[in-house]
Amino acid sequence: MTDIFSIDYARQLDQQDPISRMREQFHIPKQDNGDDEIYLCGNSLGLQPKRTQEYLNYELSQWQKLGVKGHFSGDFPWMPYHEFLTEESAKLVGAKNSEVVCMNSLTANLHFMMVSFYRPTATRNKILIEDHAFPSDHYAVESQVRYHGFDPDQAMLLAKPREGEETLRTEDLLNLIELHGEEIALIMLPGVQYYTGQVLDMKAITQAGHAKGCKVGFDLAHATGNIPMHLHDWDVDFAAWCSYKYLNSGPGSVAGCFVHEKHHTNMELPRFAGWWGHDKDSRFKMENHFIPMKSAEAWQLSNPPILSLAAIRASLDTIKDAGGIQALRDKSLKLSRYLRDLLEQELADEINILTPADEKASGCQLSLTVNLHGLDGKTVFDRIEAAGVTCDFRHPNVIRVAPVPLYNSFEDAYRFVTILKDSLK
Ligand SMILES: *Cc1c(COP(=O)(O)O)cnc(C)c1O
Repeated sequence: MTDIFSIDYARQLDQQDPISRMREQFHIPKQDNGDDEIYLCGNSLGLQPKRTQEYLNYELSQWQKLGVKGHFSGDFPWMPYHEFLTEESAKLVGAKNSEVVCMNSLTANLHFMMVSFYRPTATRNKILIEDHAFPSDHYAVESQVRYHGFDPDQAMLLAKPREGEETLRTEDLLNLIELHGEEIALIMLPGVQYYTGQVLDMKAITQAGHAKGCKVGFDLAHATGNIPMHLHDWDVDFAAWCSYKYLNSGPGSVAGCFVHEKHHTNMELPRFAGWWGHDKDSRFKMENHFIPMKSAEAWQLSNPPILSLAAIRASLDTIKDAGGIQALRDKSLKLSRYLRDLLEQELADEINILTPADEKASGCQLSLTVNLHGLDGKTVFDRIEAAGVTCDFRHPNVIRVAPVPLYNSFEDAYRFVTILKDSLK
């Protein structure tokens, strides 16, 4: 029988990997000894594609040479620049081109979406979110609830895993919606949960929510660039995501947003508007009569930061070069499976994996807890970091590792488990 826990076996898997060449298109941080870091932190900050510098330099030189005329000249004029990102962004989330736009930051987009899609009434004013949502999502929801004059203790309905369990069961979520649906104005859940790496059943949740008359939106911070989605077909009302995790567009880079086309012509929807959401043909007539575009772009406020969009364009071109999101997912399933198999074979007694084993319920992150008396997760994390692994630790007790299909290798997975094993001694 072949031993899967061997460097030869890992290298063989790399040789069979149709997108192993993509690793060379990224800057991989180095350890002090000059070796590549074992970078398993793309769920927090994705690595820099080599194209990025070139694309940024191009825009800097356009600005040097053209000044304001850069808005209208060159290969990628700034005026319509966000449109150059539309097609590839739409593919990532399974949307029509008119349904996506790159703008603002993630939390800002969640707020702007809630302005339009959280319309509480006396009897229907709750927002369903997770009990341990990412803090920014929790704060955004809480502050929206207060802004509308409701009490967060009453109006925030929190979905919890069962006693003794770490992940949410779809049946429990659906029951919650069935039970409280008439009081729920908005369901806002993650596509992929940041702490456990669990992929939620967005289609089933959306269907159940709509059946009860709720609006349904998703935070896709950990989903976009990780798993394929079909937001349009699933009939999701809105979604938002950041571009610096699996989209490798650099720290704090501009976020993405989806608004289903069925809302594009609804003139009743309230929104916080800005000039970049105004009809393109008359935007510069400065007539101060807001005519929203009939697309997700209607929610734009400002002319966007081009340097950040250039980094997103570099990232989207890199993903396209790899064959798109399905090619990433195909490798991701194998790479995560390999890492999981190694952990289960070598460290079954010492390590628990919180992330569901079911392929449909997991992406490219495994969340691990240490199960050894007298050794806590943080100590182990410090040891593996000192040995060349970059991953992250989330309180109270989880080591998150993300083997990213674009630039991580099967050898990375093998080396990680070797180091983890040593660190548990
Ligand atoms: C990363 C992440 C954020 C970060 O929000 P920013 O507005 O980009 O700072 C928010 N929510 C979730 C679920 C995240 O994973």
